[in-house]
Amino acid sequence: MRSSVQLSTSALSWLTGLWMLAIDNTVFWRTLWAGRDDSSLRSVFALAGLALLLWALFSLLVRLLCWPRLAKPAVVVLLLVAAAAAHFIGSYGILVDKGMIRNVLQTDWREASDLATLPLLADLALRGAVPAALVVAARIRFGPWRASALGLARHAALTIGLALGLAAAFYSDYAAAARNQRELRHLLTPTNVLNGFHGLWKERSRADLKLTRVGEDARRAPVPPQARPLRVVLVVGETARAANFSLGGYGRPTNQALAGKDVVYFPNVTACGTDTATSLPCMFSDLGADSFSVAAAGARENVLDILARAGVAVRWLDNNSGCKGVCQRVPSVDLSRSTDPVLCDGRECLDGVLVGALREDLATGAGADSLVVLHMKGSHGPAYHRRYPPSARRFEPTCDSNEIQRCGLDALRNTYDNGIVYTSEVLARTIDVLAAQADRADSMLLYLSDHGESLGERGIYLHGLPRLIAPAEQTGIPMIAWLSAGAQQRLGVSRAALQQAASASYSHDNLTPTLLGSFGVQTRAYRAELDLLAKARAARAPGPGDGSAR
Ligand SMILES: [Zn+2]
Repeated sequence: MRSSVQLSTSALSWLTGLWMLAIDNTVFWRTLWAGRDDSSLRSVFALAGLALLLWALFSLLVRLLCWPRLAKPAVVVLLLVAAAAAHFIGSYGILVDKGMIRNVLQTDWREASDLATLPLLADLALRGAVPAALVVAARIRFGPWRASALGLARHAALTIGLALGLAAAFYSDYAAAARNQRELRHLLTPTNVLNGFHGLWKERSRADLKLTRVGEDARRAPVPPQARPLRVVLVVGETARAANFSLGGYGRPTNQALAGKDVVYFPNVTACGTDTATSLPCMFSDLGADSFSVAAAGARENVLDILARAGVAVRWLDNNSGCKGVCQRVPSVDLSRSTDPVLCDGRECLDGVLVGALREDLATGAGADSLVVLHMKGSHGPAYHRRYPPSARRFEPTCDSNEIQRCGLDALRNTYDNGIVYTSEVLARTIDVLAAQADRADSMLLYLSDHGESLGERGIYLHGLPRLIAPAEQTGIPMIAWLSAGAQQRLGVSRAALQQAASASYSHDNLTPTLLGSFGVQTRAYRAELDLLAKARAARAPGPGDGSAR
């Protein structure tokens, strides 16, 4: 069938630009409208001017792609990407920035498929596929090369002229909006996606390929020859937020499994990042949240490397989507594709697989002092209902769907809380495994989450907002410690002392020094003032066992 619709490259550009501006930016316009200086006519003009400028800018962007053979596929991709971005911004309250693009690129297909809901497909179809199909069906008239270049130049000149004129008239309005609503540029689609890719590309090209060694001077303090092996199990949680831990005062019994386990809960802990791809490298880095960047940490050794160099046997057991480069130089096992008939469904596994794997690991790795990292799947959304077995279904009704915005906040909270119930059970069973070998080894368990989660508060879902503007739900994380009696004695820290130190404020920055300190690793990279155990020792809490502990 021959298409009768003919479009010049100019018409294609302006139409596509208008479509993206109007259809893919509803949240941007709503945010801008809500934040305007109300009722002044000036603000309406400023907004209208901005709309005109953005229309010209988006069209210019499209026009840059309008060359024979390139135009159709490029515009189709642009429309689909913009539609997807618009969907996630509108449905989950996410912002599209460098970190979010990094997450998308590092996410594995199983997590991605959790997000493939019916509304996503509908959005992709209506916002993206329909206009894309029209573009495919239309006949694009490409002028001679010289005329096209001239048209492009005129379009660019018009855009620049418009920008200058509007800046002269409304600069203060735009500056105020940009300052007061920093999220706007992450909402504006598709430039947010392009900015994100650009930022990521800059970061990658800057990243030094040569690995910077850290703590080369690391050596362990002498261990008494008759000492039993020290086993530190670090459980890295996923998307668990402190607000829903009953150990920290949450009103529902989400941590019952840990009752009577003698754990110490740290109620004031903040995450370095609000997504896995940031928090994971950050918590294992010596840089600290304030000097941290993903690129810098990627070009640098982390605490696992230092410990391994000092002679600690380090292993990483993963039930998540990988360690984001952190475990690159130590032995690691991907358990997320295990075939356990009870815990796995062929697609993913419940965190219970980590307990079995730890038990096996400890049986084979007897003798040496070791750090085993268990990376949980935790409460990763939006498919919270897939994170726990029926036995952990304590709160009902649940949201057994990926379309979490449709479930209602109560059902969503029930489902999320069931995930925390199950996480508590996994931690309790991990403690049981360690306690059972108390006659052969001294053990410590440390649990902390990578970041929190928004569950619909103020219309925000999931996680990944920039740290500066992220709500407390996304940055407040739970941390739990458990030490066997032998470990309390060996490390000189009683449970009571740890409990006394627990109410202070902590962050991911405390993890690296605490791991170094627990193995007695001496290096310039060790910062004693951030070591939880050193802090607890200094607290000198009176209590049973304390006398013998020092
Ligand atoms: Zn995460």
